[in-house]
Amino acid sequence: MKERILQLQPYKPGKLPEQIKREYNVDNVIKLASNENSFGCSPTIAQAVNKALKEVSTYPDGHAELLRKKVAEHVNVKETELLFGAGLDEVIQILSRVLLCEGSNIVTADQTFVQYKHHAVIEGAEIREVPLINGHFNLDEMASTIDNETKIVWICNPNNPTGTYVSEKELMNFLQKIPRHVTVVLDEAYYEYVMAEDYPQTIPFIKDYKNLIVLRTFSKAYGLASLRIGYAVGNENLIEKLNIGRLPFNTSTLAQVAAAAALEDQDFIKYTVEETRKGILFFEQELNTLGISYYPSQTNFIFIHAKNPEAVFTKFIEKGYIVRPMANGIRISIGTMEQNQGVINILKDNIDKSLLL
Ligand SMILES: *Cc1c(COP(=O)(O)O)cnc(C)c1O
Repeated sequence: MKERILQLQPYKPGKLPEQIKREYNVDNVIKLASNENSFGCSPTIAQAVNKALKEVSTYPDGHAELLRKKVAEHVNVKETELLFGAGLDEVIQILSRVLLCEGSNIVTADQTFVQYKHHAVIEGAEIREVPLINGHFNLDEMASTIDNETKIVWICNPNNPTGTYVSEKELMNFLQKIPRHVTVVLDEAYYEYVMAEDYPQTIPFIKDYKNLIVLRTFSKAYGLASLRIGYAVGNENLIEKLNIGRLPFNTSTLAQVAAAAALEDQDFIKYTVEETRKGILFFEQELNTLGISYYPSQTNFIFIHAKNPEAVFTKFIEKGYIVRPMANGIRISIGTMEQNQGVINILKDNIDKSLLL
């Protein structure tokens, strides 16, 4: 075995709802731990998936031709500028597998999506983590951390778990400084939720920056997390090389047809984004009233600062609410209004302030 494998843990899924019901004696379990779409997915995918069930005995189209055409049109790029994966998780794995080796390094933040680091360790690359400043990526420090052996800079925008974002001005300033041997990956898993006017529209940048990769997924706002499909956008030469590291039939027929149908229903995305925004505004208002500190969020989750995140997590789970404990806070996905009110009630009635601030 590669020795470095021993320093990692397999991904630990949360407890199953049935288990929590039994263990904590609650009737109802509400999962707000993985930033899934609390409003489900477009009802229009059912017909497409149902029709495609006839085809499950044959391998999927490894090239994802139909979906490729739709996505290319949707984001206004060439079909050759797209790479599909079984969720962004797989795209992150492909990028790591193709670009990283022993002696190389990645640059990212100390508190961001953990899969960047996980795959870098597996490939034997060094990890350079630059601390967030007040929940924000410190791009200046990241730029000066790059050297000749840096292969990937990972920027999660907006960032999971803090919900904060890098502005267009900050990003442009950064990209101009980055040497061409470094691939800059912008993970935009929460793109659809962003309201900030100075958030960058990055896909047109791939023309000028041939070392830029933009990631988008169907798992969050599109509500297709269980089907596992997402994509990378970038220069066609780079995409062609990344394709070498992709498994031949990595995305299923059902995922491809569902994603294609979901893309057509932009009304559902509008609805999701509006309801989520209401939830964020509700949280901000209530947390301000309660004097609880949080990061402003451009996503479908909110990060609340906590001194004792594990204790806060336990208080929530005792009431049937699953949230995500982090090093210095808890991350809570935005739910329906009733669920959001439930979260606030627990914060108000069951959680001692000393665990939070
Ligand atoms: C959820 C998430 C992903 C992974 O999404 P999948 O497409 O479901 O694999 C990637 N990056 C970030 C920042 C995420 O929050």
